[in-house]
Parts: sequence; structure tokens; C-alpha cells
Amino acid sequence: MIETRNLHRSYVLGKKLVEVLHGIDLTIARGEKVFLCGPSGAGKSTLLYTLAGLERPEEGSVHIDGQDLYKLGDREQARFRNARIGYVFQNYHLLPELTALENVLVPGLLGKKDRTAAAMEALERVGLANRADHLPAELSGGEQQRVAIARAIVNEPKVLFADEPTGNLDSANSKQIMDILLNLATEHGVTLVVVTHDETIAENGDRKLIIRDGKIW
Ligand code: ADP
Ligand code: ADP
Repeated sequence: MIETRNLHRSYVLGKKLVEVLHGIDLTIARGEKVFLCGPSGAGKSTLLYTLAGLERPEEGSVHIDGQDLYKLGDREQARFRNARIGYVFQNYHLLPELTALENVLVPGLLGKKDRTAAAMEALERVGLANRADHLPAELSGGEQQRVAIARAIVNEPKVLFADEPTGNLDSANSKQIMDILLNLATEHGVTLVVVTHDETIAENGDRKLIIRDGKIW
């Protein structure tokens, strides 16, 4: 489902070029639940961005569902991401002036006759149909993250990436968010890749990978 070969990614820091990913090889099966752990600054977010097509590696390839992500042109790649990949951020990244429902409509719904019905269905899947008309500021952190998940799944992606999705939440809300993500994988065969520094959360997956010094251990 996800296959990387020899991924390298560097950043310029000051006057130095610092390599963050040192040739990552990774194969993740369809429907697998994978957790990426490791110390701060290890390259977890960079790896997730690179896997999702958001940050081009200097070297190496990422295949998702057989498609070489970085061989696509910009527009094709954006279309591929929109159709196949969902992404959830620690800080929700909702547009503050739009309601929950409008935020879920943002990705542009593909192949759906009734876009509003599809967005409502996504909100129902995260238990927030009754908050559709609320602005993000009127929602709790856990609710905002559920809206962000609804936005990420509205096009029924095959792969869902989440970067510290519970990083700003208390333990009750964290559990709810993780249950939603894990259920999506179990019930809908979605491949799930989650960055977390919370070791207890990471125990709930099929596989826990440790990123340290730009490599997987
Ligand atoms: P993690 O998610 O494990 O905390 P990151 O992938 O965010 O690690 O960052 C890995 C390293 O790369 C850090 O040293 C960080 O400062 C650096 N880094 C990440 N993104 C950038 C960027 N856009 N420009 C420069 N350095 C970056
Ligand atoms: P997270 O908490 O998800 O690991 P970060 O705070 O590490 O996020 O990074 C947030 C954003 O800032 C990302 O887009 C990342 O690429 C960028 N970034 C991280 N470290 C640096 C850095 N040293 N210089 C420039 N951009 C960075």
C-alpha cells in the first residue's frame, strides 16, 4: 500500500545542510495501523509529510497504491492526494470563519452528487452531526479534531496520516480520537500511519516504528 525506497530529506539550518531522513525503506500493508515514535526532532513529521506527498525527498521514492507520488505533476499529485490521502494535524488546521460543515466541504468532494449529504455523513461518522453549524471557536479541542478527521475522510481515502493528533487533548478526548482513527482502519480497511510520542497510544497499532537519527529502528 505504502512503499518507500531510500528516502533522503535534508534542510538548510544556518549554513549547514542537515540530513533529517537518511535513506528510509518502509513497506506498510493495506489496512495496517502503524505508529511512528521517537524523540522530538527525529524526523517523524518530515517522514509523514514525505509519505503524504507534501514534501519532496531529494532522493528515493514513495509509492502509494502502486502510484509513484513524486512522478506525478503538481496538479495530478494534488488530485491524487485529495482522492486517496487524508491528513490530520496536531493543531486541527480548521478555517476559523467556516462552520464545521463548511470545513468538511473544503477538500472539494469528488464524485458525490450531494456534497452536503456526504459532508454530513462524515460528521456523523465522528459523532458531530449536531455541531454542523458551529464555528471552530465554539467547539472544544476534541470536537475540532473530530471535524478535522471528518474533513480528512470525506473523500473516503485509502490512507490516513495523523501527526500527533492527540497532542493538544486530555486523555478522555485522546482516547475518543484514537478510537475513531483505529475504527476507520479496522472497519473500512484504511491504512493508518500515526506520529505520536505517547507510548500507550502506540501500543494499539499493528506495528510501532521508532525513528531516531533519521532512520527506522
Ligand atoms: P519530529 O517530527 O520528529 O519532531 P521533524 O520532522 O519536525 O521532527 O524535524 C526534524 C528536524 O528537521 C528538526 O531538526 C527540525 O528542526 C528540522 N526541520 C523540519 N522541518 C524543517 C524545515 N521546513 N526547515 C528546516 N528545518 C526543518
Ligand atoms: P510538529 O509539532 O508536528 O512536529 P513542528 O513544530 O516540528 O511540528 O513543525 C511545524 C512546521 O514547521 C512544519 O511544517 C515543519 O516542516 C516546520 N519546521 C519544523 N522545524 C523547522 C525549522 N527548524 N525551521 C523551519 N521550519 C521548521
